[in-house]
Amino acid sequence: MAFGVYVHFPWCAVHCPYCDFAVSTARPIPQARYADAVLAELALRAPAFEGRELASVYLGGGTPSLWEPDQVARVVAGAAARFGARPREVTLEANPESAADAGRLRAYRDAGVNRLSVGVQSFDAGVLVKLGRRHGPEQAERALRLAGEVFEDVAADLIYGARRSTVATAAADAARLAALPVTHVSAYALTLDPEIMAEEVPFARMRREGRLPLPGDEEVLAQARAIRAGLRRGGLRRYEISNFARPGREAVHNRLYWVGESYLGLGAGAVGALLRPGQGGVRWSNHRGPETYLAAVEAGRAPSAEEEPLDPAAVERERLMLGLRLREGVPLSLVPEARRRELEPLRRGRLAVLGGGRVRLTSRGLDLHSAIAERLLP
Ligand code: SF4
Repeated sequence: MAFGVYVHFPWCAVHCPYCDFAVSTARPIPQARYADAVLAELALRAPAFEGRELASVYLGGGTPSLWEPDQVARVVAGAAARFGARPREVTLEANPESAADAGRLRAYRDAGVNRLSVGVQSFDAGVLVKLGRRHGPEQAERALRLAGEVFEDVAADLIYGARRSTVATAAADAARLAALPVTHVSAYALTLDPEIMAEEVPFARMRREGRLPLPGDEEVLAQARAIRAGLRRGGLRRYEISNFARPGREAVHNRLYWVGESYLGLGAGAVGALLRPGQGGVRWSNHRGPETYLAAVEAGRAPSAEEEPLDPAAVERERLMLGLRLREGVPLSLVPEARRRELEPLRRGRLAVLGGGRVRLTSRGLDLHSAIAERLLP
């Protein structure tokens, strides 16, 4: 069984007004102390993952490109040494400001990173301003060009459905990205669900108070279609609801989540899951505040804020729901017997394809993923 290590680096230059992640803007960043703590947490949690194959390391955040490359090197080497394997994929998330520096990018490559994921969001200056981002379109393009010279794989994130986003800006973003040395794109609609977002997230508060006009559902869907068409023309194929890749460049780490493999989450605010097929498992989330996290690990305690046992049925449900997000679909055996009568109408409606012992959603089906998964869940 394969698994991935996820390391959360919780510091950012600024807190973007739409972001609900575990993020701190406090300074100074305790660069070496945080790496020490992540390595100590690794030593605590690793025994439970013994006997599994380490496929990937993903350094996310926050903004892990604010972590000094020599500290990143310690963490990547520590994970590889602990599991006696060189992970196939080591990703570092970067903002365009810190990625537009060739020397720093080479230092990350020398630290073991082979995939850089750049938070572009948009190439439209007006959209970036409305999102509260500090970088401009030219800086993002420069970061991607430099990254293409240094790394085998370069990923980029796009946001659509934001203020000032239109079908035209979405199409232009996709075309510009596809013309750059980008091997993978994740494109997400800006979601600001006031029900689930923390009170203090500025955009969620503005939305609640009716002060943040956003494009309507039809418009957002049209923007998503424009992005898909532009990426497809540029050679990036949709392999998951919101993810696109050039052939053979699909994300190793994220795929682990979608097919229901385990992941070892480390760092403040990280989430991890240890799953055993047929036996259920456990999911934990760490303290979100860096100081609370550091204090727990430095006292020799696991820094979990919450632990949730998962029964076998819950694990199977998640595998079905998440697996249907992928173009490759799921084994038919994951669909409960009692729900299989739902498959034929889906096939006739061109929402799903059945064959080779698998169920796959079509492009139209992927757009209705939640409703379809609901019909197939036990
Ligand atoms: S840079 Fe990313 S993680 Fe940091 S605040 Fe902005 S959106 Fe959130």
